[in-house]
Amino acid sequence: MSDTTTVHAWATSGPDQPFEPFEYELGPIGPDEVEIGVTHCGICHSDLSMANNDWGLTTYPFVGGHEIEGRVTRVGSDVRTHQIGDRVGVGWFAASDLECPYCRDGKHNLSPTTSGVIVGRHGGFADRVRAQSTWVFPIHENIPVGEAGPLFCGGATVWTPIQHHTKPTNRIAIVGIGGLGHLALMFSNAWGCHVTAITTSESKREEAMKLGAHDVLIGTDDAALEASAGQFDVIVSTVNAPLAWSAYIALLKPEGRLHLVGAVLEPIPVSAFDLIMGHKSLSGSPVASPGDTNLMVEFAGRHGIAPTTEHFPISKINEAFDKLKEGSLRYRAILDIT
Ligand code: NAP
Ligand code: ZN
Repeated sequence: MSDTTTVHAWATSGPDQPFEPFEYELGPIGPDEVEIGVTHCGICHSDLSMANNDWGLTTYPFVGGHEIEGRVTRVGSDVRTHQIGDRVGVGWFAASDLECPYCRDGKHNLSPTTSGVIVGRHGGFADRVRAQSTWVFPIHENIPVGEAGPLFCGGATVWTPIQHHTKPTNRIAIVGIGGLGHLALMFSNAWGCHVTAITTSESKREEAMKLGAHDVLIGTDDAALEASAGQFDVIVSTVNAPLAWSAYIALLKPEGRLHLVGAVLEPIPVSAFDLIMGHKSLSGSPVASPGDTNLMVEFAGRHGIAPTTEHFPISKINEAFDKLKEGSLRYRAILDIT
């Protein structure tokens, strides 16, 4: 086998430009790296934000894709945890130093040295991708082939506040029922919470109930929000747009938490008194640590949780992005690569 790999990918050359076929070479594999033959890759809203350089982090040509499912095709000389042929997934992170206090504490996702699969390197809209073995996760056999990718970014992101900030006896609200939000409904229902979906889309009401919501609030209905004041222990927002923040903090019970995973760019104006009087918290978190990601996959497998998806051949990648932009996906696009 040659030392290098020619990767057949799809890249965009700039903001609002279409994805087109693009080839590049990966050099010799690093000792701690795993190479994956990508079979499927989800499209996260972060891929859209990165494609358009909304966060100022993008280099072009840009190959997105960080909800990766595939099979191991090659391993570095030090890798003992993965074998060629294993079914695996990769999410947002590709590597971390493994030595800093955060990595040593199992919180690799909080390490200042993490690198992203699609930040300064090419991602999973391609037939091959590489990542450090720590960030390459086995896939539970109960998760259907082709449906696992979205667990590794969307799933791992909403899992953190559920695992770390809720008890099964809590009432939780999930704001924004898209790729992340629909997985959050399934996880928090299986976790045992009373689950409320807060959506701007009346058309998602029934679907949200089927996904695990016990009730639904329409986020643009001010009177309905007001009537639900003081109801929730935890609210998880997956929305990337400003919300009526005071109204959402008012939805919390005393000691409640409004937790952000949606990457809203606008600063959030919060009145100190809205937090002080009820001992409330505002918090956020990135994609999960490796340990928590493995727990999430185990939990998903045990409870039969898999994303609801629409599949597109990789040649239709631009159509898939168009559906994401118009908000009409139910609920995650997956590109079929091979
Ligand atoms: P998505 O599939 O597009 O879903 C976002 C949902 O937000 C939409 O389905 C919609 O739900 C709601 N929404 C959209 N515009 C809105 C508006 N103007 N006002 C209120 N609600 C609105 O996106 P996603 O892939 O789930 O990603 C969501 C966000 O999480 C993105 O910002 C993404 O970059 C971020 N993200 C963060 C992390 C992290 O590490 N923290 C990881 C992954 C993704 P309804 O129709 O139900 O209202
Ligand atoms: Zn993502």
